[in-house]
Amino acid sequence: MSTKSIDIPYKIYLSEEEIPQSWYNVRADMKNKPAPLLNPGTGKPMTAEELGVVFCAELVEQELDETTPFIPIPQEIRDFYKMYRPAPLVRAYCLEEKLGTPAHIYYKFEGNNTSGSHKLNSAIAQAYYAKKQGLKGVTTETGAEQWGTALSMACAYLGIDCKVYMVKVSYEQKPFRREVMRTYGADVTPSPSMTTAVGRRILEEFPGTTGSLGCAISEAVEVAVSNPGYRYVLGSVLNQVLLHQSVIGLEAKTALDKYGVKPDIIIGCAGGGSNLGGLISPFMGEKLRGEADYRIIAVEPASCPSFTRGKFAYDFCDTGMICPLAKMYTLGSGFIPSPNHAGGLRFHGMSPTLSQLYHDGLMEAVAVEQTSVFEAAELFARVEGILPAPESSHAIRVAIDEALKCKATGEEKDILFGLTGTGYFDLVAYQKFNDGVMGDYIPTDEDLARGFAGLPKVPGLD
Ligand SMILES: *Cc1c(COP(=O)(O)O)cnc(C)c1O
Repeated sequence: MSTKSIDIPYKIYLSEEEIPQSWYNVRADMKNKPAPLLNPGTGKPMTAEELGVVFCAELVEQELDETTPFIPIPQEIRDFYKMYRPAPLVRAYCLEEKLGTPAHIYYKFEGNNTSGSHKLNSAIAQAYYAKKQGLKGVTTETGAEQWGTALSMACAYLGIDCKVYMVKVSYEQKPFRREVMRTYGADVTPSPSMTTAVGRRILEEFPGTTGSLGCAISEAVEVAVSNPGYRYVLGSVLNQVLLHQSVIGLEAKTALDKYGVKPDIIIGCAGGGSNLGGLISPFMGEKLRGEADYRIIAVEPASCPSFTRGKFAYDFCDTGMICPLAKMYTLGSGFIPSPNHAGGLRFHGMSPTLSQLYHDGLMEAVAVEQTSVFEAAELFARVEGILPAPESSHAIRVAIDEALKCKATGEEKDILFGLTGTGYFDLVAYQKFNDGVMGDYIPTDEDLARGFAGLPKVPGLD
């Protein structure tokens, strides 16, 4: 038993009143704003009108707003948040003791809802604005399915229709997720499918493909723009999603402030960048305004290394090349990560906001290999009790690595990381790990060159 005196509780809970009243828009404090979305035909910035064909009107406003620092959270959304928020901030005493580190480790746990992840924070906001606009429903894609589940929950709650295109490899690996979505009333189709023109084109070109997020996005967008009363919604990458996810960071900061803790290092996994963007937002705001400094680390899989090996360039968000172009760290919209990569985080690009912050040297990135991620997940599950999602375990890996560095140097650093979700639907991946048959496919430079070769040539840009 530890004899360490404990003055910070194992879990720092907030009250319902402490759920944020407003989202924080980090772009308002950025000197170099993220580059605008471009119309792929003209090379000109997308107007609100053009974006409104694909996205809900009020979400377009949020997408384009780079000056308003605080955007009030509508009461209906705060009421929904109360069902599963505030999320606890946990001091990982057991992990610290196991590692024998003098570092203090905190994690913000977002897995306490049926979707098993932070995705619900944005799903409810997006479904709310769709309903407010009088739409019949929304379409989307889902990879590891937490987003599809979250959106199904939000749409069921508000009584609107939800059509989900699910990456085929996940559809096959995680059949139970599909049943959760169907229970919430969603219509679920494996992607690529024969139900859309772009799906048929991709299947013809790559028969037997296991699909990708980029490809499922193309299908969902096609269905949204060709059905009256529908719009497309996206669970990550976009500025609006990072805005909604700022509740994670705002709550974490409120909790830490109560105990006067300033994290030295903030760590999050990065797929499209929404949880990390949300977790770091208020801290990054302080950093941008020169009020404080934090070391911020994005963790990505070595199998899909957009930050660490990608190019900062305009690219399509989807494989079918029908979406606007975004300037981001990207592996190319044609990049399809190896199908044996079990842990999600499979998108080829990265949030334009985070890409700009990374480009400006305001945050770091590391890529980690799958087996070392699952080793960290296993250790964490055994000492902290929560079975982590493979995605979240990327952050755990680096939090452990940083805590072990502190052990070597004797530094008592405060480390905060995002525990984005639970891994109950990822047991096929855990099984591979437990059976010792998990592979670590890391793309070669030639693999990446193929993706880069597909980067678009934009009129008026080099
Ligand atoms: C979707 C997801 C991620 C990655 O997405 P981001 O947009 O990068 O946050 C990470 N963890 C979990 C549990 C997820 O569901």
